[in-house]
Amino acid sequence: MLYCWGHSTRCYTAGHSTNRKISLRKDKSMSLQLGTSTHPLRIAIIGSGPSGFYAAGRLQEQKTLVVEIDMFDRLPTPYGLVRGGVAPDHQKIKSVTKVYDKIASKPNFRFYGNVEFGTDLTLEDFERHYHAIIYAVGAQSDRQLGIPGEDLPGSHAATEFVAWYNAHPDYRQFEFDLSQEKAVVIGLGNVAMDVVRILAQTYDELYPTDIADYALEELKTSNIKEIYVLGRRGPAQSAFTNPEIKELGELHDAEVIVAPEEVALDSYSQAFIESGEDKVAVKNVEILKAYSQRESQGKTRKIIMRFLTSPVEIIGKDRVEAIRIVKNELYQTEKGEIRPRETDQYETIPVGLVFRSVGYLGTPLPGVPFYEKWGTIPNEKGRIMTAIKDGQQVTGGYVVGWIKRGPSGVIGTNKPDSVETVDMLLEDMTNGKLLDPATPSREAIENLLNERGIAYVTFEDWLKLDELEQERGAAVNRPRVKFSQVDEMLEVVSKVHQSLPDPAGD
Ligand code: NAP
Repeated sequence: MLYCWGHSTRCYTAGHSTNRKISLRKDKSMSLQLGTSTHPLRIAIIGSGPSGFYAAGRLQEQKTLVVEIDMFDRLPTPYGLVRGGVAPDHQKIKSVTKVYDKIASKPNFRFYGNVEFGTDLTLEDFERHYHAIIYAVGAQSDRQLGIPGEDLPGSHAATEFVAWYNAHPDYRQFEFDLSQEKAVVIGLGNVAMDVVRILAQTYDELYPTDIADYALEELKTSNIKEIYVLGRRGPAQSAFTNPEIKELGELHDAEVIVAPEEVALDSYSQAFIESGEDKVAVKNVEILKAYSQRESQGKTRKIIMRFLTSPVEIIGKDRVEAIRIVKNELYQTEKGEIRPRETDQYETIPVGLVFRSVGYLGTPLPGVPFYEKWGTIPNEKGRIMTAIKDGQQVTGGYVVGWIKRGPSGVIGTNKPDSVETVDMLLEDMTNGKLLDPATPSREAIENLLNERGIAYVTFEDWLKLDELEQERGAAVNRPRVKFSQVDEMLEVVSKVHQSLPDPAGD
């Protein structure tokens, strides 16, 4: 069988799939029972992060259902934010991929990496080959602050920095001026904590992680001495969780500085903490108060935490030179929410680098409904709707994860979220409400990919890349050294294929 790599530029014979011939019959047989061996339920999952895998897992749990799951990703590598988002010094969290590997090892699962929805395969292509499409594409962009100077060189989205140090191919070429002494991170979420930790850690702390090799080298010569962390509300409203704020206090050569007046609670926050309703918030405040009592340990890097401050302008002629902030006060809305409000007290802090870490944001997919304001696909329990309010259900369209509910929760949050969606899909199947694809077969989709010269990467290919990354790591006493360029990955996969015996004997 002929396969072409590099979008038709390199072709060779090898086998991704069986050589079994099937006729591409036009299957108009919704009356045939779907989900049986003669008429398997064919599901496409777009995106291979946690939510996509949990959706696949839920489908595999249906013991009486014959289902074929094809998972697509625009990158050659699977796992979404587990590979490209989870901090490199949080290796334990990444072991969740073992669960995904088990799902991928089942015969009814296939992975097609390096295939982009909307360009390599369109919505119409998917509708011709699948009974349903589950979008698990996450939130691929970031929220902006909407203040002057935000686009100056030296001002970045935290998400870009995260993707850069995690070897995401799209961000490999990004540059961060680590010759600066002062940086500011805006936001009090766990992504902000990750960014602060990566900026504050020593080379020896970063070395035993799987941080991108080029990022490790850049950070080795980093000149950063002060990292300001700015929260628009108070310590009691911090969005980070307890282990993440605790970790900042345990770094080898960086210390947390919090002035006692920064952690003094206003009456609303005091009442909220005393109510004990949010145990994470109670502990966060306790940890921050303890930091405010600490003597300086004389460490090289300082993490300076400031609360009740909002950036109003990023100042600089050709690049970031300073940030102007305003002091906030808190007030309570009629609904009981504690919100920030600007006062008339301003301050300017000289800084050379700004990372805004105020949340991820979903981006639209061609042909799929999208709600700009929330950056999500409109849905009801995972069933895609044409609009947020009074919309119609989009036949065969389902959504899971951050593109369904917005960028919130930890990895495990995606499991019940995906279960909910898949259960809606199965209910729709029972009621005959799925798509009626013309060519619902694996051979048909693989033929189409091959006709278009799309060098798709299978899960077996990925496992080889994975093995090689770990070997490269073992050679230098690191958990892995990641590939960070798509061409390089495809080249490696191509070489592996060429070294395999030709199953057709040609
Ligand atoms: P997040 O948890 O939603 O935090 C966003 C932060 O940005 C909040 O402190 C928010 O403050 C602040 N913010 C929003 N708009 C702002 C503005 N205009 N000006 C100033 N501050 C603003 O988002 P995230 O940190 O991107 O994390 C996304 C999800 O991934 C979260 O669920 C997080 O827990 C999870 N995550 C988990 C881990 C982990 O488990 N270790 C690691 C990384 C991420 P307000 O509260 O005032 O809105």
